[in-house]
Formats: sequence, structure tokens, C-alpha cells
Amino acid sequence: MAKFAYRPIGIVVLIFLVAVMLYNSRLYYRPSPQPLDMPEVHGDSKASEPKVSEGLIQEGTANAVMLMLARNSELEGAVSSVKQLEEKFNRRYRYPWVFLNEEPFTDEFRQQVAAVTSSNVSFGLIPHEDWFQPDWIDEEKAKAGRDVLVKQNIIYGDSVSYRNMCRFQSRAFYKQELVLPYRWYWRVEPHVAFHCDMDFDPFAYLHNNKKVYGFNLAVYEWMETIPSLWATVKEFVRLHPQYIAPNNSMEFISDDDGSKYNGCHYWSNMEIADMEFWRGAAYTAYVNYLEGTGGFYYERWGDAPVHTMGVSLFLPKDKIHFFDQIGYTHEPHSHCPQDLDFRAEHCRCQPGRSIDWLDYSCYPKWFYMQRR
Ligand code: GDP
Ligand code: MN
Repeated sequence: MAKFAYRPIGIVVLIFLVAVMLYNSRLYYRPSPQPLDMPEVHGDSKASEPKVSEGLIQEGTANAVMLMLARNSELEGAVSSVKQLEEKFNRRYRYPWVFLNEEPFTDEFRQQVAAVTSSNVSFGLIPHEDWFQPDWIDEEKAKAGRDVLVKQNIIYGDSVSYRNMCRFQSRAFYKQELVLPYRWYWRVEPHVAFHCDMDFDPFAYLHNNKKVYGFNLAVYEWMETIPSLWATVKEFVRLHPQYIAPNNSMEFISDDDGSKYNGCHYWSNMEIADMEFWRGAAYTAYVNYLEGTGGFYYERWGDAPVHTMGVSLFLPKDKIHFFDQIGYTHEPHSHCPQDLDFRAEHCRCQPGRSIDWLDYSCYPKWFYMQRR
């Protein structure tokens, strides 16, 4: 008898459950609205414009260019770098490539490079004045400066073409006709290596996170190449204090609050950045001032310390981003991502070769500065 007393309760519970299911099924099968970010495709030109929602851009839609300065003799290294970046990143996003050279690229260079990407490719000739040593440089003084570096056994001590390159990368690449239409760039060199599959767009990342400058490796400079650079920069700052950003990265480039430069610089052979900064008032006034001293030729100022000092002084430190997820080697230095899950899933690199936390890396200084 007691057994049957439970039956009415069971029936009530069953009815209740069925009612809940019916109610929920209304929720589940309610026709869903169109996803907000679905692009409207009507075959009009708007479809190819960046799809902006609240100032954010979607991956693959940044106004960005893959940028390589190269010589014809570097064809093999150029093809190797482009091929890797295409396979690991750009085949998904199809950002255009621009190649620059102070000599016309050969047909062979053009064909072989174009063959390894399905993106748009253009080849630019650098105007004479953006590349070669200007006439107003005192060649005798420049030669004496080169001799000093040769005596000290400094790499590229004797090279005028290396000085041309550094000056170009410091003050002219972002003004080239083929580069001007773009806002963002990724600087790529021949003969570098990329170790990770990238399923994210670093341009969109920087844009959407309001960053300006992205780097991957940071090391110490050969101080012999820049004996008067810091004094020159300090003089510029004295004349134009308005350009100094609040919350800047002085701590990254100086250990004594600006008295001496510590040599730390973002390694500029791989940078992903916003050219609006280089084209802006502060950086333009700064590189014009540097140019006026002739230091690019009398000494051997590198574009890396020139970029780094500009970025460190004229930008708040939170505008600078470390791209851990870009595994990269430019000999002799390497970065293999610290993010273990990402590395395991996406990369082939040797963590033991990664210089991030070694004593000749400036990454630790950057890391602790960002956390203060
Ligand atoms: P390093 O990385 O400082 O040892 O210097 P690199 O030799 O790699 O040069 C830096 C970048 O400038 C690379 O992309 C080179 O291809 C490029 N480069 C260097 N010198 C010249 C040059 O004389 N002409 C051209 N067109 N490109 C150059
Ligand atoms: Mn290089």
C-alpha cells in the first residue's frame, strides 16, 4: 500500500519537468537575431572597408603593410623570410608586401619574391636623398669617425652603406611613396626565422589595445657606435620639453634617471608599429635634430637606439607591447614564447636559445618597468 502513495507525487514531478522542458524549448528555438558583426555583403565597396565597431577593427582589416628593405644579393634570404611569414601568419590575413631598395630590384628578385605570396607585392626605389650620405657631411670627419670604429674592431665600423641604412631606417622608411598609404607596418629582414603559427593579427591587436610600438627582442647597444647620441638627445629634450610624455620609459633606457644611456634598445630588425608616431610632430622634430648633427655618419648611430629613445621619451610606457607569441630568430638572438601552452601548441623553437631572461637581454628591465 505504501508503495502506491508515491505515484501521485511522481506524476506531479513528471508534469513539472515536462512543463520546464516546453518552456525552455521556447527559449532554445526562439529565432535568433543576426550576429551583429556579420559583414553585409552586397558587392559594394563598403564590404572591403575595415569593419569598425566602437573603434575596434577585425583581424585582417588593419591598414597595414609587411615591409622589407633588401638588396638584390639577398634574394634567397628574402624569399626564405617571406615564405615563412606567409605560411605562419600572412596567408590567413593577406597583408600586402612592400620591398624597398636604393637600387632597382632585378626581375629575378621581383618574380621569386612574388611567387611565395598570394598577397599584393610592390617594389620601391628609395629616393637618392633618403639613402646616400648628404653633401653637407664633412667626408674627412666621417672617414676619421669610421677609422676610430675600425680600430676598436666594431662591426660595420668601416661601412658607409650600413650608415646609409641606419639613417634611412631612422628617418625615412615611413615617408616612402609606397609606404605612405599605410598606418601600420611589420619590419621584416632577409634571413630571419619565425617559429610559431600565428592565429592572431598583431596589427589588429595593437590597434584594438591602443598600443603604438611592438617588439620581440631587446638588447644592449655597442656604446662605441653612439658616443654623442644621448647627449644630443638630451639637448633636444632641453630645447623641446613639451614632447616628453608623462609616464614614459626613461627607466628602460637609463639607470640613473637620464644622466647616462644604459644601451637598452628594442631590436629594430623586428618591429610592428604605428607609423603615425614616426610621422608625428615629436619624432619628426627629434630625427631632424639628430640629422642636423651629422651623427649618422660621424659616428654610427643605429636605427634601433634612435627608435628606442624616441619611443621611450615621447610615448607613455603602456603604449609599448612585447609580442611573446611571435617566435623569432635574427642571428645571434632568439625569442621562443614564454607562454607554455601557446608554445606547445603553435611553435617549434628551442626555449634554451631564448634570450629573454639572459643578462645581455634588456627584456627583464622592460618587464619590471611595466609592473611598477
Ligand atoms: P644588421 O641586422 O644590423 O646586421 O644589418 P643587416 O645587414 O641585416 O641590414 C639591416 C637591413 O637593411 C636588412 O633588411 C638588409 O637587407 C638591409 N640593408 C642593409 N644594407 C643595405 C644596403 O646597402 N642596401 C639595401 N637595399 N638594403 C640594405
Ligand atoms: Mn639584420
